[in-house]
Amino acid sequence: MSLNLDKFKSVISHAKEYGFIFQSSEIYDGLSAVYDYAQNGVELKNNIRQYWWKSMVQMHDNIVGIDSAVLMHPTVWKASGHVDAFNDPLIDNKDSKKRYRADVLVEDYCAKIEGKIEKEIKKATKRFGDSFDKEQFINTNPRIIGYNNKISDILSRLAKSLENEDLEDVRNLIIELEIVCPISGSKNWTDVKQFNLMFGTKLGASADTATDLFLRPETAQGIFVNFLNVQKTGRMKIPFGIAQTGKAFRNEIVARQFIFRMREFEQMEMQFFVKPGTQADWYKKWKETRMKWHLSLGMGEDNYRFHDHEKLAHYADAASDIEFNFPFGFKELEGIHSRTDFDLKQHQEFSGKKLQYYDNELKESYTPCVVETSIGLDRMFLAILSNSLKEEMLDNNTTRTVLKIPPFLCPYKVALLPLVKKDGLPQIAKDIYNTLKLEFNVTYDEKDAVGRRYRRQDAIGTPYCITVDHQTKDDNTITIRERDSMQQVRIPLTDIEKYIKDKVSFNPTLLAM
Ligand code: ATP
Repeated sequence: MSLNLDKFKSVISHAKEYGFIFQSSEIYDGLSAVYDYAQNGVELKNNIRQYWWKSMVQMHDNIVGIDSAVLMHPTVWKASGHVDAFNDPLIDNKDSKKRYRADVLVEDYCAKIEGKIEKEIKKATKRFGDSFDKEQFINTNPRIIGYNNKISDILSRLAKSLENEDLEDVRNLIIELEIVCPISGSKNWTDVKQFNLMFGTKLGASADTATDLFLRPETAQGIFVNFLNVQKTGRMKIPFGIAQTGKAFRNEIVARQFIFRMREFEQMEMQFFVKPGTQADWYKKWKETRMKWHLSLGMGEDNYRFHDHEKLAHYADAASDIEFNFPFGFKELEGIHSRTDFDLKQHQEFSGKKLQYYDNELKESYTPCVVETSIGLDRMFLAILSNSLKEEMLDNNTTRTVLKIPPFLCPYKVALLPLVKKDGLPQIAKDIYNTLKLEFNVTYDEKDAVGRRYRRQDAIGTPYCITVDHQTKDDNTITIRERDSMQQVRIPLTDIEKYIKDKVSFNPTLLAM
C-alpha cells in the first residue's frame, strides 16, 4: 500500500514539474480541489477527449454530439431530482474536526477486508504453485467465504439505510464496525447529515430580482432537455445516442485525491435512447463496448473491473462502474447506467411539453428508456498518467523517468533535436519542424546535450525524437529514436511524415475495437 502511495506522490509531483497540472490560483495558496491543466496537460486532455469523441460519436452512425450550456433553467434540477436528492451523507469526527462521507468510510472499511482476501490469495498462489485454482479457492476457502459474506452484509445494510434515508443506522453501522478517524484515531462521531452537492449562483443584476441558478452537476440533463430538438432536426431513429463533453461542478465534501475528485471537472457522457423493454440488452452492450474502449489503450486488463451497484440511484434499474486500479486502489472511472424513462418523463411533467418519440413503424408514441455511459475526463487523465509513469533502470546503471502514454494520446508526437547548435543543423531541424507541425503537434529543442534532451522528452511522453546530425547534410537522412525501446533507425527525410503518421494515428486502434 505505502509503495503505491509513494507512486501517487510521484505522479502528483511529476504532473507539476513537467507542466501537466497546476493547483488553481497557486500564487494565492490555491483553491482546494480545483486544478488547472498546464501546457502539456491540456494537450493530453484534448487528445483523450478527441479519442473518446471519435470512437463514441463519429464512429457510430446513430450517435451525434451537442454542446449544451453550463447554466440551465432552475426547474431542470427540480425535475432531475438533484434539488431533493443529490446529497452525500456526511459525518464529522469531533476530535479531529475532519469531515467525511459516511458511505465512503464504510466502503473503505470493506476495501480493507478485500485487501485481506487478496493477501490470502497471494499466499495460496505461492503455496500451491501451478496447480492453484483461484476460482475454486475463492469459492471454498472458509476464511474467504467469511470475508466475502461480511462485505456483502455491510454493503447491503449501507445500501438499505441510505435508500430509506435512515441516517441513524448509517451512523450505527460506523460505530458497530468500530471505524476510527484516520487523523485522530478516535470513534467520536457526530450524527450523519445530508449535504447537497450543487453549487448555487445567481442570474440578474439586482439582489431582489435575481434568479437562483445552479452550476450543472452533470452534463446529462443538457442532453435530456434537447432530446426532441436533436431527434427532430437530426431525423434520428431509435435507437440513437446523444453525446457531449463538458464541465460539471460539485461541492464535494471530501476532495483529497488530486484530480480524482474535483469540485470543477469534465465529463464525457453519452445518453442512448432505446425502446422500453430493450434497455437490459443495450445496458449489457454498452458495458462491453465501454470496457473494450478502455482495453484498447493497452493499460492492462487486470487494472479494470466492473462493480455492479447494489444501491441504485433513484432513476436507475441497473448500474455498474468500470473501476480502475489507481495508485490508491480500485476506484470508479466510469459509470454505465440504465436510467429507465425517468428523466424524459420528469422533464415532460415539469415543463408541460411532450417529450415522446413517434415510432413510424409501430405507428405509436412512447417515452424512450435511456442507457448512459458517463466517464470523468480528469479521472481518465489520472488513470493514464499514473499507469504510464515509469522509473526505469538503464544498462549503464542510470535511471530514466518515462511516460509510456499510448502514442496517439501524447502531448507531442515528435521532438526535433539538432545534434549541435551550429553547422546549419538547427536550420535543417527547423525546416523539418515547420513541415511536420501542419500534421502533428511537434516540439523543438536545441539546448543541452542530446542525451539530456531525450530524457526531457521521455518525461513528457514524446514517442519519437528526430535527430539531425552532420550525416543529414551529406545524405538527407535523420535518426528517429523510439521512446519505449530507445532504438534508433535512420531514414530519409522524405519518409519522415509517413513513418510517424503510421505510428501515432489512432485509426488502427479504433478499427480493432
Ligand atoms: P463518485 O461515487 O466517485 O462520487 P459518482 O458515482 O457520483 O462518482 P457519476 O455521477 O456517475 O459519479 O459521474 C460520472 C463520472 O464522472 C464518474 O465516473 C467520474 O469519472 C466523474 N466524476 C464524478 N464526480 C467527479 C469529481 N468530483 N471529480 C472528478 N470526476 C468526477
